[in-house]
Amino acid sequence: MLGDYRVRQREYLLEISRALTAQLKLDELLRMVLEAAAEILAGQAGLIALREPDGRFSIRASYGLPRALLPYFTPLLTDIPDDADLGRFRIPGLGEKLGRIAAQLGLRLQQVVALPMVIKRELIGVLFVFRAYGARFTVNDRQILASFADQAAIAVYNAQLYERLLQEKRRLDAILEYSADGVLILDGGLRIMVFNRALSQMSGWPSYEAIGRLHDEVVRWARLDTELDLSSAIAGGWPLPSAAPLYVEGDMRRRTGGTVSVGITYAPLFDREGRLVNIIANVRDITRFREAEEIKSTFISVISHELKTPVALIKGYADTLLREDASWDPAVMRESLTVIVEEAERLNHLIDNLLDASRLQAGALPMEIDQVDLSALAERVAARFRTQTQKHEISVRFPPRFPVVDGDPRRLEQVLDNLVSNAIKYSPQGGRIEIRGRWTDDEVIVTVSDEGMGIPPAEQARVFERFFRGTRARQQRVPGTGLGLYLSQAIVKAHGGRMWVESTPGAGSAFSFALPRRQPA
Ligand code: ADP
Repeated sequence: MLGDYRVRQREYLLEISRALTAQLKLDELLRMVLEAAAEILAGQAGLIALREPDGRFSIRASYGLPRALLPYFTPLLTDIPDDADLGRFRIPGLGEKLGRIAAQLGLRLQQVVALPMVIKRELIGVLFVFRAYGARFTVNDRQILASFADQAAIAVYNAQLYERLLQEKRRLDAILEYSADGVLILDGGLRIMVFNRALSQMSGWPSYEAIGRLHDEVVRWARLDTELDLSSAIAGGWPLPSAAPLYVEGDMRRRTGGTVSVGITYAPLFDREGRLVNIIANVRDITRFREAEEIKSTFISVISHELKTPVALIKGYADTLLREDASWDPAVMRESLTVIVEEAERLNHLIDNLLDASRLQAGALPMEIDQVDLSALAERVAARFRTQTQKHEISVRFPPRFPVVDGDPRRLEQVLDNLVSNAIKYSPQGGRIEIRGRWTDDEVIVTVSDEGMGIPPAEQARVFERFFRGTRARQQRVPGTGLGLYLSQAIVKAHGGRMWVESTPGAGSAFSFALPRRQPA
């Protein structure tokens, strides 16, 4: 009888060990262990209780007991000694408790044995086996059960490790997936294994399309700043000493068209034999950085060019007037002084624009809202510009009783000024310039049209960009900074309005802005 036990016990234990390595689902393993233990000890039923994080015990596996009855067994889980000498583990009053439960439920369970599950000297659970009849559990029975309890403890331990590993992996996946930077993981053959959300957005490649492809199929350069191409660079092993990361920068082609400026850091991962197993790449969108660089250099060239001209003129005329060997007749003197005043005004205007642009970048333009009569404003602007040009005929056409709007009169004058001054600047042959007003139920619309050089369709969308200057404007050396329309549009938008352009190259342009009409009180 005893020999029989031993053989079967060994078989069970072997089976359980095999299952243990093949299978990491904790609850199933616990059930297997319990079943085997109960069977080998000829027990009718059994339970495994595990210690929860809060220290209390709860039933995690059962054998031979209907699920609905399990709550009745919870009294067994109290008074479990914690730091008792585990070699002489004993739950006080266990037999009596079982007796009461069995009587209450009408079950014929008389004998109980409880074995501690211990890992690293810590009690992590208890294995119970119940018998309906027969002899009390012997020392030998307890020994058999102890091996199962050990197996169960290992199972719990492995499962907890596995769970922690899974959790760690999930955490890592989440970090990768939601990282604001693009993340790309390649295998040793440069095939894409991980492609996160940020990278999908940057590159236009959905991750399911990118994963499994070769690096070079997805990361394609329209322009590369560094003289480095990943596949050829690593053909003869990692090109940098001590596995230092590689950095490349350039314009990457988006799958959906267009490009994006990125900097990619490739970091290699080697196995113990020094073979390249993975490359982990961090992809950073540097478009804004590039733009900022570009704006800075435009800014400097604009400033140097546009400020220099008036300053040179002012200095030239002033120098001449100052010459001691000459006495100027009043007409020449007046003319020189007029140039000086005009150029000083131009400087002033330029500085104002630069200040506005930087204010706008820092936040919003300050506004002082009042009631504005746009038709009177247009008349005033027209009158001022008429004195500055002979080649252009400036007219104003506003219907009578033009509605008054809420707005900043000084800022709106700045907009009109800019539109009329552009109309003059960009129609060097002269022609008619018209300021027209109209209104709808909810907007007033002002249009400034000219018969000048017009704007090529490709540039029409860009004229409102900061520092944008048309090709012809630059070729024909029309003075300007590319700030006028940018500021005008910002002012109109600050009023809740919109601004647009219609133009036929060679025939003229019409710039319009619409402002919301005053809400009736
Ligand atoms: P700037 O006149 O200082 O260059 P703007 O922002 O006022 O800057 O205008 C941007 C560009 O839009 C100009 O360089 C020019 O190419 C184009 N543009 C503006 N107004 C006109 C116009 N009335 N006719 C033709 N081109 C224009």
